[in-house]
Amino acid sequence: MVQAKVRLFVDHPLTEGQTVPLNKDQSNYLFAVMRLKEGAFVALFNGVDGEYQAEVTAANKRGGTLLCHAQSKPLQMPPDLWLIFAPIKKARTDFIVEKAAEMGAAKILPVSTDFTNSERIRQDRLQAHALEAAEQCGGTYVPEVTELQKLDALLAGWDENRQIMFCDEALVGAAEVLGAASGDKWAILIGPEGGFSEAERSKLHALPYAHPVSLGPRILRADTAAVAALTVWQQHLGDWQ
Ligand code: SAH
Repeated sequence: MVQAKVRLFVDHPLTEGQTVPLNKDQSNYLFAVMRLKEGAFVALFNGVDGEYQAEVTAANKRGGTLLCHAQSKPLQMPPDLWLIFAPIKKARTDFIVEKAAEMGAAKILPVSTDFTNSERIRQDRLQAHALEAAEQCGGTYVPEVTELQKLDALLAGWDENRQIMFCDEALVGAAEVLGAASGDKWAILIGPEGGFSEAERSKLHALPYAHPVSLGPRILRADTAAVAALTVWQQHLGDWQ
């Protein structure tokens, strides 16, 4: 089978023999930027049907069509792991979303906390970053990025079967890691640059399903902490084993 060099997310059902129409942006990318011609192959995924090798059957800068040939990858779901984080500066927030998608988070939840620096996010832009990350890392699943919500509100409606890996900077240097933790529904919680308030910390320590953990002897920036925590969790309980 011809292996496509370009991967593209499409919001369209995919199955062998399926024709997929392209919008203006997709056509511009494939035919003007990547200079693909009729007969070229593109790898398509839509987040639910896996990945298909699709042939360009019509190409112009304003539109075009692809024809799906064989499936090249089944849908591979990430573990049931959420990343909850407090948004920081724009470029670093973008980084967290991109890395979370690459590292295999199933859902990405920005929250505002007592010391959150930025009170607004562009959910649509963050979702687009998650999608691009899936395109480039070979993923067949795109994690949902939710709207900004208050940490308190999120915890108020919490499903007690989902455990929380609470990354607590107050434990810096302590030997608190995931250790013997088990279970397959999890969320990682990372605070903002200002860290968690004492009120948040005591509330989180009192939750039976929250596991306070340390990420080593140094205080990490929130974006570093997110990647480090995803690594530790994937290694202990996720799909790296
Ligand atoms: N300003 C705070 C640090 C915040 S770091 C202070 O100086 O104490 C941002 C977030 O990254 C923290 O809220 C925490 O979730 C995570 N983090 C950073 N370093 C950590 C560590 N060594 N252990 C656990 N969590 C850490």
